[in-house]
Amino acid sequence: MKLVDAHIHLSDPKYNQKISEVLEDAKQSNVAALVSNSMNLQTSLSSLQLAKEHPNIVYSALGIHPWNVKHLSPNETQETVDLILQHEIHNGKVVAVGEIGLDHQYTNNEPLDSQLKVFHEMLSAAEKKSLPVIIHSRGTTPQIVSLLPSYNVKKVLLHWFSRPITLLPQIVDRGYYITEGPPSVYSNHTQEIIKRIPLTNLLTETDGPVSFRGPFKGKMTTPAFIPLVAKTIAKIKEMKETEVADQILQNFTNLFGITFTESAKNILDS
Ligand SMILES: [Zn+2]
Repeated sequence: MKLVDAHIHLSDPKYNQKISEVLEDAKQSNVAALVSNSMNLQTSLSSLQLAKEHPNIVYSALGIHPWNVKHLSPNETQETVDLILQHEIHNGKVVAVGEIGLDHQYTNNEPLDSQLKVFHEMLSAAEKKSLPVIIHSRGTTPQIVSLLPSYNVKKVLLHWFSRPITLLPQIVDRGYYITEGPPSVYSNHTQEIIKRIPLTNLLTETDGPVSFRGPFKGKMTTPAFIPLVAKTIAKIKEMKETEVADQILQNFTNLFGITFTESAKNILDS
């Protein structure tokens, strides 16, 4: 059984000096692949570096998060776009543009204009390179779902989808994916989403180093949390854990184009 963490921030300073511990947890927990998401240019470069240092387990997503739009240096958006546009030279280490999006609560009551501008640049780069996008949409999911058809971006992951639940049928119709993480274990709302989303549109994540409640309280977030998330999904879906894991692995391959070779298996078995 192989599990995945489709959304973690390995380049976050909280994981400094802890990468080997995090990857050891992944191996012990049968987590065969992690997508290291980025927040700005610097973390994009470090996500890419981590993907190079840990082949066949760490993959990178490059981009500018809406929380960083106010703190960008003058050329940072362009330099991040350039890095995305040149991703082929890194031989499959870059699998998506992310984490990008809009955040309604992070605007200090200002309009979303500057976030929209950066989001547009990120979506355009993804479009040019046919890369999937990993989207943060707190308070902005309806707006994002209505603007996405203006871009030729076919593979979309709405990370930590929360609300409105009424949008789920449209998300499924479009063939988008969502991720759910540790709150699956203790949040009725998240469990309701899992009940309603077909398993073919669902992936698992930790969003580490974000910390969590319930059985995860006080612990450093690592892929070691993923087995309990997968177990909870299996319980909600009334399926075997192995069936859930296999489908989620298939979703991961469909979304990011990552296939699981013997070398990945060897890493896990070693
Ligand atoms: Zn994130």
